[in-house]
Amino acid sequence: MKKIGMFLLVLFLFSSCRGRQDRLNLLIITIDALRADHMSLYGYSRRTSPNLDEFSRRARVFENAFCTIPKTSASLASMLTGLHPSVLKIKPNLGTLRKGFLTLAEALKEKGYTTGASVFNGNLDRAFGFAQGFDFYDEVWKRDSRKELSADLITRTAVKFLRENADHSFFLWLHYIDPHAPYQPQEKWVEETSGGMDIREVNPRIVVGEGEWVDLEGHPHLGYYVARYDGEIRKADYYVGKVLEELKGLGLLNKTMVIISADHGEELGEHNLFFDHGPLPFNSSVRIPLILYLPGEKPGRIKDAVSLMDVVPTVAEVLNLQFPYSLTGSSLLHPQPGRRLLILGLMGHAVVDFPEKMNFISERGRQYLGLGSYYLYDVKEDPLEHHPLPLTSLKISRFTHLRDWFLGKYIKQSKKFRGHRGQGKISRKTMENLKSLGYVK
Ligand SMILES: [Zn+2]
Repeated sequence: MKKIGMFLLVLFLFSSCRGRQDRLNLLIITIDALRADHMSLYGYSRRTSPNLDEFSRRARVFENAFCTIPKTSASLASMLTGLHPSVLKIKPNLGTLRKGFLTLAEALKEKGYTTGASVFNGNLDRAFGFAQGFDFYDEVWKRDSRKELSADLITRTAVKFLRENADHSFFLWLHYIDPHAPYQPQEKWVEETSGGMDIREVNPRIVVGEGEWVDLEGHPHLGYYVARYDGEIRKADYYVGKVLEELKGLGLLNKTMVIISADHGEELGEHNLFFDHGPLPFNSSVRIPLILYLPGEKPGRIKDAVSLMDVVPTVAEVLNLQFPYSLTGSSLLHPQPGRRLLILGLMGHAVVDFPEKMNFISERGRQYLGLGSYYLYDVKEDPLEHHPLPLTSLKISRFTHLRDWFLGKYIKQSKKFRGHRGQGKISRKTMENLKSLGYVK
């Protein structure tokens, strides 16, 4: 009897604690094309993320977080719905998030939250369905198309939103573009992260994307570009730091759940691919940072594999949100050893059976990039995928079986969703933005 009493007391304390968290604010910050391994937070040699390093001391840092696909539209759609892109049936880029799925913003709006977003990437145009559920949706490129000014504009909007909504429950999503090519940070950000320049020469005609070549003028060293990419990370970190500082200054830190991540990584010469993301499912493109700050929860570093589509299930658990269907992701509060994931790519895909990860390269990928078909890695020991493990036919068949199992499950789930497939009209400014970021030729 005593034991039952104690159990009920624990249950009561647990539920009342969760109950208090039931109205926490939510701040999600995503940074485009940000590789985890180029952040000092994840052990990179340059000090690229001092503000996130500091903030993360009180957060949970996921060391093996993956996107579902290294392309903006589909990746962020799966973050905002908790569903795999194969369930959403969304195009990797320029894809429409159809109606018929319940987005995080819609679920929170229904709960009485004020919902706002400030984003810079033409793929997130409201015509593509990404504004669903947001009271306020700031498409920054439509106000000012200059990429170099976007972080400042997003941050100003965020500060204003936080000040105006400090007194009631809110959800704010910010999407920074800085580390996305072209890498053109102001010189001061490059200086701050300089040192140890990689002087490996790059072929002046290099691959950027799907079999496409460009001439690099005047800078034959890979390190020149990597330093600029790193400078863009340092710049994004500075502005994210300002938002976090404001949150603290307003006394909102113990009332707000904060999630910081990226839609995908970036290829910086690994696997014959440069300054792009999408074709291949190697970690350079799919391993992302993921930071979860939950007031009152213990900080720490978690090694189990997690996914960007775990964001919605986590928020749903903490804020007690109900979804009318089962989500593909699972809560970050209960990481699972041996987690299995399917990651899509345009010229291949990967199956994670953590810590093992098998990358499959398609025929098209082999043609363009001259790679083999299968690569197996222990990504816990070898996150940069330098040392492929010996392959056996048993391993190949096990991973192939896993892939087919995932695909079968997702196709079945996707059939349950119907709804409009159309897309609204995209503005001229969005087309210009998509061109400047290389999405449209
Ligand atoms: Zn992106």
